[in-house]
Amino acid sequence: MTPCVDCYADYFAEALKGWKPKPHPVKERYQEIGGLSSMSLFSASYGVIEIIKYIAGLTDFRTYGKSRGEFLFDTLDITYLDVKRDENCKTCGEIVYEEA
Ligand SMILES: [Zn+2]
Repeated sequence: MTPCVDCYADYFAEALKGWKPKPHPVKERYQEIGGLSSMSLFSASYGVIEIIKYIAGLTDFRTYGKSRGEFLFDTLDITYLDVKRDENCKTCGEIVYEEA
C-alpha cells in the first residue's frame, strides 16, 4: 500500500522542521498569475517517458522505489524521495482511532 497525502504531509512536516523559505525576489506580486506552465509540460513529459519505459520493459516498477521527485530550479536536479506509508497515520494507518 502506498502512502496517502497525510503520510506525505507528516513526512514533510518532520523533514522541513526549522526550514525557512527564502524571501521572494519580486516585491510587488499583485499581478501574480498562476504557476509556471513549463513545469506542467515538464511533469507531463517526464510521466510519459516513464510510462513508455514501463511499456517497453525498461523499468520494473516493483523495484522502482522512486515514489516522488522534487525538481530543483537552482541545480536542475531531481531529488527522489522514498516516502513510506506511516503505520500510525490517522488516515491510512493500522491503528483505529476512537471518535471523541
Ligand atoms: Zn497515510
